[in-house]
Amino acid sequence: MLTGSCLCGAVAYRAEGPVRHASHCYCTMCRKQHGAAAGSYANVAAAGFTIERGAERVTEYASSSHGRRGFCSVCGSNLYWRSTEAPDRIAVTLGTLEPEFSGPVEREWHTGQKPNWLPVR
Ligand SMILES: [Zn+2]
Ligand SMILES: [Zn+2]
Repeated sequence: MLTGSCLCGAVAYRAEGPVRHASHCYCTMCRKQHGAAAGSYANVAAAGFTIERGAERVTEYASSSHGRRGFCSVCGSNLYWRSTEAPDRIAVTLGTLEPEFSGPVEREWHTGQKPNWLPVR
């Protein structure tokens, strides 16, 4: 079971495992929306995803013909990404999970769009 909430606390959700995979996505849309180097997600079953508090505060932005990005309309926290082409899955944002996500991050998407300002390893 995963639980999470937004920055202001208006929205809380839970998602049942297992996590199919966790990922960092470097596509320009994720980077823009998150204001960060990547969007980071845990892919879980949509059937197990429930907004427990503040559902009326969740706004969805249609970032493409099929992509829907849910965020808190009060504080702007990005909560999930889902695709209308794969309605059985939903990707919840790792940064909103509490407690902190403990699983491995196995996938990276759109690595060709990784920004140059990531830390040098
Ligand atoms: Zn909020
Ligand atoms: Zn992306």
